[in-house]
Amino acid sequence: MAGEIYRAFHERSIRDREGFWAEQAGLIHWQKPFGKVLDFGRPPFAKWFVGGETNLCYNAVDRHLATRADQKALVYISTETGEEKAYTYRELAAEVNRMAAVMQSLGVARGDRVLIYMPMIAEAAFAILACARIGAIHSVVFGGFAAGSLATRIDDARPTLMVTSDAGMRAGKAVPYKHLVDESLRLARFPPGKVLMVNRGIDREMQLVPGRDLDYATLRSRHLDAQVPVAWLESNEPSYILYTSGTTGKPKGVQRDVGGYATALAASMKHIYMGNAGETMFTTSDIGWVVGHSYIIYGPLIAGMTTILYEGTPIRPDAGIWWKIVQDHRATVMFSAPTAIRVLKKQDPAFLKKYDVSSLRHLFLAGEPLDEPTHRWIAEALGIPVIDHYWQTETGWPMLSAVPGVEKTPIKYGSPSFPVFGYDLRLFREADASEAGADEKAVVGVVPPLPPGCLATLWGDDERFVKTYFSTFSTRQVYSSFDWGIRDQDGYFFILGRTDDVINVAGHRLGTREIEEAVQAHPNVAEVAVVGVADPLKGQLPVAFAVVKDVSAVASPEARAAHEKEVMATVDRLLGAIARPGRVHFVTALPKTRSGKLLRRSIQALAEGRDPGDLTTIEDPGALEQIKAALGAR
Ligand code: ATP
Ligand code: MG
Repeated sequence: MAGEIYRAFHERSIRDREGFWAEQAGLIHWQKPFGKVLDFGRPPFAKWFVGGETNLCYNAVDRHLATRADQKALVYISTETGEEKAYTYRELAAEVNRMAAVMQSLGVARGDRVLIYMPMIAEAAFAILACARIGAIHSVVFGGFAAGSLATRIDDARPTLMVTSDAGMRAGKAVPYKHLVDESLRLARFPPGKVLMVNRGIDREMQLVPGRDLDYATLRSRHLDAQVPVAWLESNEPSYILYTSGTTGKPKGVQRDVGGYATALAASMKHIYMGNAGETMFTTSDIGWVVGHSYIIYGPLIAGMTTILYEGTPIRPDAGIWWKIVQDHRATVMFSAPTAIRVLKKQDPAFLKKYDVSSLRHLFLAGEPLDEPTHRWIAEALGIPVIDHYWQTETGWPMLSAVPGVEKTPIKYGSPSFPVFGYDLRLFREADASEAGADEKAVVGVVPPLPPGCLATLWGDDERFVKTYFSTFSTRQVYSSFDWGIRDQDGYFFILGRTDDVINVAGHRLGTREIEEAVQAHPNVAEVAVVGVADPLKGQLPVAFAVVKDVSAVASPEARAAHEKEVMATVDRLLGAIARPGRVHFVTALPKTRSGKLLRRSIQALAEGRDPGDLTTIEDPGALEQIKAALGAR
C-alpha cells in the first residue's frame, strides 16, 4: 500500500476536492480571486477556479522579478551548434516582451492561434511565453513533422501566425524547415497570413516570401524596450492546443485551460518533483511534446527554478553529456524517457561515473513502459530514486507516480507507483466497468471530474471529446486512458500496454506487452516489438522483432533458427504456447518516434504487406529498413 501519509493526502484530494484544490491554487498568483472552485454542472466537462483571473506568463516570469531577477531562468545548451546561453529572469522577461510586441504588431490578438514549429532554441520558449502573455493560444507542432502532418494541424487550429525557424539540427546534421513550411502552407486550406522566421543562419539558401515571411531579428530590434501588458484571462479560457503524438491514429487537439493548468503544475512541482525555487531542472524532452510544455517551460519557471533547454542527443559528443550538464548546473531534478536510458545503457558505463551528479535528488522517467532491467540499471548506477511516472498528453501532468514531496515510499522496479493526488484513478473491467481486484488486468480509468490541468475538451469538438474519452463503458461515464494496467497486492500499479495493442489468437486476447516481456526474458534480447499479424487459421499471430545484445549469436541462418527456437521456448515457458510468436526476427534497432514510442502500427502494417503510414517522426529510418529486410528474408 502507499504509505499512510500519502494515502491520506490522496484520499483528501478526492473526498474534499474543492478544499484541496483551493489550497493548491494558493501556490500561484491570481489577479482576481476565483469564485467557485469547481463547476461540474455539465459532466464530463470540468471547470476549475471559475471567475478567477490569472496568466501563465505572469506566473512563470513576471512574478519572480521582485525576488530573483538576476537568477538564471533559462539555460539554452546546444551540443549541435556548440552554443550555450543563459537568460536571467530579467532577461527572459525582456525577450518575452519583445516577442509579444512583435506578435501584436503582426495583428495577433487574444484568442488567436499561433502555430509554433521550432527547433529547440530559446526563441521557441520566448514565443510560447509571449503567446501566454497576450492571451493568444499557442499550438506547438513538433519540429520535424512533415508538411502533410503540419498542414493537418494548421487546418484544425487555423492560426493567424506561424513562428518557425530556418532549420533544426539533429546528430550534427541540419534539418531544414523552410521548404517543409512552404509546402505545408501550400497544402493547408486555412494557412496563416504571416510567418515569423527566426533565422539561425543554418539554411543559407532560405528564400523569404515577400509580404508573408518576416525576419524576427529585424522586427525584434524595433521593440527592444517593449513592455507588453499581461492579458488577465479567466481561468477556463484556452491557453494552448497540443496535438497528441498520433501513435494510435488521427491526432487529437488537446485544449488546456489557464488557471487549472498553472495550479496543477505548481502542485506537481512541489509534491512530485520537489523542485525548489533557485534550483535547476533538466528535462530532456522537446517543446513539441507535452513534457516539454509542462516541464521544460511552464512547470520549472512557475516554481522559480532554472530550466535547461537542450538541443542535441544523449550521446553527442559522448554518452556523458547529460551528466556533465547535471554537474555543471547542479541540477536537482531531472526528467527523461526510458528510450534515452536504453540508449545510454548500450554505451560505456564509465560515463556514468565521470561526472559529479550528487546534486540530483531524483530522476523521473515517462512516456512509455520502463522495463524492470532498465529501471534497476539506472537506479543502481545513479544511486538515487528513479521514479517511473505515467501520464498522457491529455492529462498534462502525471496520473500515476510516487509523490516524494508528500511521502517517500519505496520504489518497485517497473511500476509507476500510485494514483497521483486529484485523480480518482481506478482499474475497470472491460466487460461491465466494474472495478478490478488486485492482480487483475483491467483498463486504467479516471472517475470524473478530471483534476485541474487535464484537457478541458478537444479543440472545437466537444462531442468528439466526450465520445473519445468518456464513452468506453455504456454503464458509466469514466475517462478511459486506453491503457491496460494492473495493481499488485501492495497497491502498486503497472502499465501493461495499450488497449488497442491486443492480439487475438484463436479467440484468446493477448496483450503485446505481455508477450514482449516474455520474449525479453531471454538473456540475449535487449528490446522487442511484438505485433499481431493476420493469420488465415488463427485470426492473428504474434510476430516478434527482437534487438539482440550479442549479434554474433545470430550471425548465420542456422544460428538464427536455433536462437528463434530458444526465444519461442522462453515464451512457451512463461505464457504458454498460445502466446508463442509465429516468427522471431532479429534486428539491431526498432522503428520509434523521436519521443521514443514504438511504431507498432507501422511494423504491423509492413508485416501484413500494407502501407506503413506517416513516418515523418521516425527516429531512425534504417530501423524500418531492417524490418522490411527481415520480413523479406523469409
Ligand atoms: P496518441 O494518443 O495520439 O495515439 P500517444 O498516446 O502516444 O499518442 P502521448 O500522450 O504522448 O501520446 O503518450 C501517452 C501514452 O504513453 C500513455 O497512454 C501510455 O500508453 C504511454 N505511457 C506514458 N508514460 C508511461 C509510463 N510511465 N509507463 C507506461 N506507458 C506510458
Ligand atoms: Mg494516447
